[in-house]
Amino acid sequence: MSNFKSKYHDELIANAAYIGTPGKGILAADESTGTIGKRLSSINVENVETNRRALRELLFTTPGALQYLSGVILFEETLYQKTAGGKPFVDVLKEGGVLPGIKVDKGTVELPGTNGETTTQGLDGLGQRCAKYYEAGARFAKWRAVLKIGPNEPSELAIHENAYGLARYAVICQENGLVPIVEPEILVDGPHDINKCAAVTERVLAACYKALNDHHVLLEGTLLKPNMVTPGSDSPKVTPEVIAEHTVRALQRTVPAAVPAIVFLSGGQSEEEATLNLNAMNKLKGKKPWSLSFSFGRALQSSTLKTWSGKDENIKKAQDALLVRCKANSEATLGTYKGDAKLVEGAADSLHVKDYKY
Ligand code: 13P
Repeated sequence: MSNFKSKYHDELIANAAYIGTPGKGILAADESTGTIGKRLSSINVENVETNRRALRELLFTTPGALQYLSGVILFEETLYQKTAGGKPFVDVLKEGGVLPGIKVDKGTVELPGTNGETTTQGLDGLGQRCAKYYEAGARFAKWRAVLKIGPNEPSELAIHENAYGLARYAVICQENGLVPIVEPEILVDGPHDINKCAAVTERVLAACYKALNDHHVLLEGTLLKPNMVTPGSDSPKVTPEVIAEHTVRALQRTVPAAVPAIVFLSGGQSEEEATLNLNAMNKLKGKKPWSLSFSFGRALQSSTLKTWSGKDENIKKAQDALLVRCKANSEATLGTYKGDAKLVEGAADSLHVKDYKY
């Protein structure tokens, strides 16, 4: 039992529950300046502030899209940007019933003596930054920890270090009014099968909840953002039903019922795969004390980005593509998606990038 009670206790619980509202999910649009540069260069658009702002305006002002979202994760620059018409993005989101979120980690660095395993940076000064972001309208935060599967990975060191980093981040967020998204991403890279991924996911999540408990984190005021349990990228694919069974079982074994919602990352799956897998989990019968939703980056934005290609005349078509994905994923949170979004060009393309850095 902890003595820590955040002055934001009730607000944290209410906001975490709101983000987990069935039918809604999160758009992860928090690519750092370096990462968005890679996206923009894939469509031959220069990585300058005006273009980054234009892309984010396209996303946030898509007619009808915000009804399917409860949160949007922003990068610091975007938190303070406005539409071309002068309206702060934060206000656009709030008016659409969407909570603004903020990426607060500062990327990964290698853990010396490991086979390329990493830890996530950004704890120094985090309390002050969270207070500032809350002031600017942010109500939740994201911190991405990255683990990988190999012959001897993830190591005990990487699991422990990342779990305690996530826990320390989470409690600092809660002291400052932000709901922490706890994101221990196990990369899909490798030739392993789905059982290996399930075993590693269980080990990592069990360590994370031990660390969160040790740090007196209020679980009701948190969200979990895990990878889905799938075979490795160099291994044959399995059906959404098999992914759903393995994923839900790993979560049942490790994620406390106090956690209101689990919002998956897409991790390089195609747009359509990510939606079908989420849908299958919500169709699956069995114990699910949390809601199961999405916090997709690539699987929500990639066909939109390609359709836009940096041209004003394509904005409307690009927004249509985003709306299709938001609606499909909303249906997937209810287990009612019928597969009708797959016809959109690019929806089935693999978005896997080896050793992905967000
Ligand atoms: P993807 O859905 O593209 O994996 O990204 C989600 C995210 O926010 C990773 O931190």
